[in-house]
Amino acid sequence: MEQDIIKISNLEVFAYHGVLKEENSLGQKFIISAELFTDISEAAKDDDISKSINYASVCKAIEKFLKENTFKLIETTADKLATYLLKKYDRLDRIKLEIKKPWAPIHMSLDTVSVQVERGWHKVYLGIGSNLGDKEANLTEAIKLLNEDEDCDVIKVSSLLTTEPVGGVEQDDFLNGALLLRTLKTPSELLELIGKIEKELKRERIVHWGPRTIDLDILFFDNDIIQTKELTIPHKEIANRLFVLNPMCEIAPWLRHPVLGDTMIQLRNKLSE
Ligand code: AMP
Repeated sequence: MEQDIIKISNLEVFAYHGVLKEENSLGQKFIISAELFTDISEAAKDDDISKSINYASVCKAIEKFLKENTFKLIETTADKLATYLLKKYDRLDRIKLEIKKPWAPIHMSLDTVSVQVERGWHKVYLGIGSNLGDKEANLTEAIKLLNEDEDCDVIKVSSLLTTEPVGGVEQDDFLNGALLLRTLKTPSELLELIGKIEKELKRERIVHWGPRTIDLDILFFDNDIIQTKELTIPHKEIANRLFVLNPMCEIAPWLRHPVLGDTMIQLRNKLSE
């Protein structure tokens, strides 16, 4: 899909970032350029600024952030500023941000030195399940904890379905579902958060495939294909589990598996056959 861009070029802000203490006391000029990726179609159709991102407001926010915080590195400054703007402006999907230092104190002449970062919200689907204690309360609590994380917003949650356990261990039925999340975290940061939530809800791991108060799996992370020691994305069991495909068909029936090439509906049809 095409994406619209609002561009801000060479906004000047006097601030105090730098490794040298002189930079922190005397200050210097920073020049900021930003590409704001957003969907402007509604604003354009209705000629309504409240349906777009107000660039005057963004410029003021950039200035305020750069003056109110002091970092040693422009790397940190750019990273934190990008995250700050993504959280502040709901319509901002992704941002490319460059911070230039024209007066970098290196006793040599240069035009500028700069750092450019690109940050954005990731679209993630999680599988959730519980078969111990008050299952619905466990799932509700896990969803609440996810949503409370400052880098995550839960966008959509499927209905919760009761499923019989797989794996041959004698245990109670599972309550399963799936949810759509937007996050600023990387896959490994998200895995860490999930681990913390599972721990907080005192998930029991006595028997492999055995009972658990909560189980959270990363099903999809954007269209990424990831294979590391800790992570397989897309989750490797998606195509074999109706208790994943059923809730996924409810919240994202046309989502295409980036490795298998099939939509959620096609995968469910194949598995049901
Ligand atoms: P389980 O509790 O059986 O889901 O296994 C959890 C472990 O699986 C975690 O410690 C992860 O390192 C690993 N893992 C691999 N891929 C994924 C994924 N897509 N989502 C969650 N955990 C994963």
